[in-house]
Amino acid sequence: MKPAVRKRGLSLNKKKALLILKSKGYKHTDKREDILALFEKRQGYLSAKEVLTALKDAYPGLSFDTIYRNLSLFKKLMILEETELDGEKMFQFQCSTQHHHHHLICLRCGKTKTIDVCPMQDLSKVDPDFQVTGHKFEVYGYCRSCQKEMQRKEQREWVLHGDTQPGA
Ligand SMILES: [Zn+2]
Ligand SMILES: [Zn+2]
Ligand SMILES: [Zn+2]
Repeated sequence: MKPAVRKRGLSLNKKKALLILKSKGYKHTDKREDILALFEKRQGYLSAKEVLTALKDAYPGLSFDTIYRNLSLFKKLMILEETELDGEKMFQFQCSTQHHHHHLICLRCGKTKTIDVCPMQDLSKVDPDFQVTGHKFEVYGYCRSCQKEMQRKEQREWVLHGDTQPGA
């Protein structure tokens, strides 16, 4: 079976998330809808700080605590999934895939892809005395569009600093 790498096109979205909130009896607020809209647009991980920065202008009194409380609620309701990157908690819409999976994470834009490969399948025989209760596996790198942008930027710098160009 060929391992599949999938775009997160089928992940939860704002509309579905709002339905979950409603079905659990949580109030619909503009703030909550705007937070969810941010995640829908990103299609990848965002930190609480990034959410705060994005919404600060629309909600001048908005605090980090409020954002964090909402993100924690979304996580509890399985709307968002969480990971930690460089010691900072990051959130994204829950993947639609019901079975065990891991992510490829772009370090530049935060976009993620789902992978069905699990390294634990090969590691299970490493220490038979150790009772495994869970594991974390993430692959970091750059998505295709970030790679392209980085290349373009490099070329622009090369043109700007013509000193590396022979005869310039
Ligand atoms: Zn996922
Ligand atoms: Zn990227
Ligand atoms: Zn796994």
